[in-house]
Amino acid sequence: MSWQNWSANQQCRPRALAAPADEAAIAALLRASTGAVRCVGAGHSFSALVPTDGTILSLDRLAGLRTYDKAGLSATLQAGTRLAQVSRQLDAAGLALRNLPDIDMQSLAGAISTATHGTGADLPALHADVTALRLVTPQGDVIDYEQGRDADLMAAARVSLGSLGVITQVTMRVVAAHNLTRKVWLRPIEEMLERAPELARTHRHFEFYYLPFTGYAAAITHDAYAGSDVLMPPSQDEDMLRDLRRLRDWLGKYPQLRRWSASKLIDPALAEHATNRSWRLLSSVRPTRFYETESHVPREAGIACVRDVIRTLERRNDVFFPMEFRFVKGDDAWLSPFYQRDSCSISVHAAHGEAYDYLLSEIGPVFRKHGGRPHWGKLHNFSGAELAALYPRWNDFQAVRRSLDPRGRMLNPHLRALFGAA
Ligand SMILES: Cc1cc2nc3c(=O)[nH]c(=O)nc-3n(C[C@H](O)[C@H](O)[C@H](O)COP(=O)(O)OP(=O)(O)OC[C@H]3O[C@@H](n4cnc5c(N)ncnc54)[C@H](O)[C@@H]3O)c2cc1C
Repeated sequence: MSWQNWSANQQCRPRALAAPADEAAIAALLRASTGAVRCVGAGHSFSALVPTDGTILSLDRLAGLRTYDKAGLSATLQAGTRLAQVSRQLDAAGLALRNLPDIDMQSLAGAISTATHGTGADLPALHADVTALRLVTPQGDVIDYEQGRDADLMAAARVSLGSLGVITQVTMRVVAAHNLTRKVWLRPIEEMLERAPELARTHRHFEFYYLPFTGYAAAITHDAYAGSDVLMPPSQDEDMLRDLRRLRDWLGKYPQLRRWSASKLIDPALAEHATNRSWRLLSSVRPTRFYETESHVPREAGIACVRDVIRTLERRNDVFFPMEFRFVKGDDAWLSPFYQRDSCSISVHAAHGEAYDYLLSEIGPVFRKHGGRPHWGKLHNFSGAELAALYPRWNDFQAVRRSLDPRGRMLNPHLRALFGAA
């Protein structure tokens, strides 16, 4: 039996792969088995969160919208529901998630467990909207936690990396279904860096991608749209990626010539406009596989950090993948990388099948210099000691974890190392 993640950089040979049909079967499995158990959602994390030689537990069969309260803007979903299905089922009920990440393939539990986020200066990551959740403990007990009543346990369980037990059900604050309008345009990177804070302030969702060795960045905004017409031009992302790769293949050894050619090939007047349902615009399809690292730095350090990242990246002629810059609002989950701080998120990608060690050895130190907290689901090599210093409630989280899982059944080697667990 073997398992691997989406980007195929994590693999393992578990003793068992289980996909129980319901909560009772999950509880029975936990009671009857002895070894390590790691939950898997859609396997879209780049870091070694899932691999185990014990049991991999999938919640694929626990999917779907359970109940919703349209007036109270709340919905309860099974934890294995993929975000795409969450959006479709909420839409049918006249509701939507407040924000979405770049793709919507993830499971709801997998997404919240690693603090998955989209972009928006006033919009927090998904887990901040979780108001209640149900956990099957490693002993097989089923416990419901609610915001307000169980403040500390909720602060621990919102972002828990699968280390507290199996999340089977999630209740979220939602918003009314709505339409957005998207604008995409190109600008020289210096102009983009200068305008980024203002664009983030004045648009509901703003992000930009820097296109390495071109001097240009693509801005993307999404704002509320009162109209109902649908305008959905085909995505140009894959064409852009192919062109950037070709330019690297042909002129990678001659960076100045590469820059000059890019400046001739790029049409700064290129722009895109779309209008549609929020969930149809906010998440994309990413057929080209890649590896990724991402750190969340304090908001005020964002621009300085991204300048450093670009400088560091462009010392390498093999780089061509666009680099992403986003805004995320702070929250109060103990292991949230946005814990009590509004942040800028910087993601650096490397093409699948190519060298990516530099994401850690060269970009990692830049993130550290600017106080970055790594995305739990993306590549990083922060030590437990470094993380403990970055998270004020680290020890409180570990205390909750030990009380729910004294034998460390929900851990794997990656988490044991991070948590310093025996
Ligand atoms: C192409 C691509 C694009 C991405 N875009 C973004 C983005 O825009 N923003 C962003 O923040 N991240 C992004 N990510 C990262 C991704 O959102 C996270 O890694 C997310 O955790 C993956 O969800 P998953 O369902 O695949 O979970 P998995 O990777 O399968 O698992 C993640 C964690 O959740 C735990 N878990 C899963 N299910 C349960 C459960 N039922 N109970 C308890 N624990 C559970 C697992 O044990 C593990 O620790 C992207 C990843 C890819 C591959």
